[in-house]
Amino acid sequence: MPLYSSTCYGGTPPITGRRRRFCIGSDSSVRGTFECPKCRKTYMWYRGLQRHLEYECGKAPRFKCPHCVYAGKHRSHVYSHIKSNHHNRPIYALDILQD
Ligand SMILES: [Zn+2]
Ligand SMILES: [Zn+2]
Repeated sequence: MPLYSSTCYGGTPPITGRRRRFCIGSDSSVRGTFECPKCRKTYMWYRGLQRHLEYECGKAPRFKCPHCVYAGKHRSHVYSHIKSNHHNRPIYALDILQD
């Protein structure tokens, strides 16, 4: 069961040290739905929303394919991109934030 249902809550969820406030939508029939306050993307788990806010929402892609111009927001996106687009090439991602 989700720890947090579709109500507003404050404080610090156990899986994060951050203090953030999320107001989950008013539709009480949608249980365990966490909506991004910025882009309205919804997640089943708070963790998913948290990851979205931290790495995805409003962020430029951070990981680059070393073999072409492709860039993704997650390392795993680049890995699967290489597997399907660059056969027999080394599979790794360039982290543009670690230059
Ligand atoms: Zn978002
Ligand atoms: Zn590529």
